[in-house]
Amino acid sequence: MRTGDVAARLAELALGARCPGCGAPGMGACAACAAALRSVLPFGVGGLPDGLPPVVAAGAYADTLRKVLLAAKERNALGLLPLLGGRLAAAVARLVLDAGPVSSLVLVPVPSAPAQMAARGVDLTASLARSAGVRLRSAGLGVRVHRGLALARRPEDQAGLDRIQRLANLAEAFRPVGVDASGPVVVVDDIVTTGATLAEAVRACRLGGGHVIGGAVVAATMRGGGAR
Ligand SMILES: [Zn+2]
Repeated sequence: MRTGDVAARLAELALGARCPGCGAPGMGACAACAAALRSVLPFGVGGLPDGLPPVVAAGAYADTLRKVLLAAKERNALGLLPLLGGRLAAAVARLVLDAGPVSSLVLVPVPSAPAQMAARGVDLTASLARSAGVRLRSAGLGVRVHRGLALARRPEDQAGLDRIQRLANLAEAFRPVGVDASGPVVVVDDIVTTGATLAEAVRACRLGGGHVIGGAVVAATMRGGGAR
């Protein structure tokens, strides 16, 4: 048995650690689940609110990606950040390829609600953005991560709201806090559902002087049975 396999089984024995994707013993995502996530090609998300620039998702919010993302969100599994940050980097790379060459880029994470941060002890979206920034810089792109948005007020829980209700709920929920306008901006988040959150983040970035070229997310929920 390889050293890594022994370590994985010891982690299961001592900590009950399992791969969030398939349940195999070990810390973090197993090699097979990580490879499965990396094999998915990022795609443009359709059916989002009018006026929103292109949004690219690294994958559909389903199966292994959904399980790994949920583990990162709910179990505060920080060991999953490099894998998920890599997927976010892939989405940003696809967006940049489609948008045309850029020499530098500013990633602006969507602000997390205070309740979420208190529960998780970490700002997941900002952490994903930082991880993606590392990957993109290693690919040679000048990337800065800038937390240029803050909550202007506390929106209601989005669960159970349709798109129109979500747009109203989020209207002017964010405010710019000195958006870095030194390069094109990509707004990043963990998940896109209706696009209401991204639309509000893009509005606030533009208000702050940012030149927003698109949005990038780790996962897109599939409404109406397809990648719309
Ligand atoms: Zn696995």
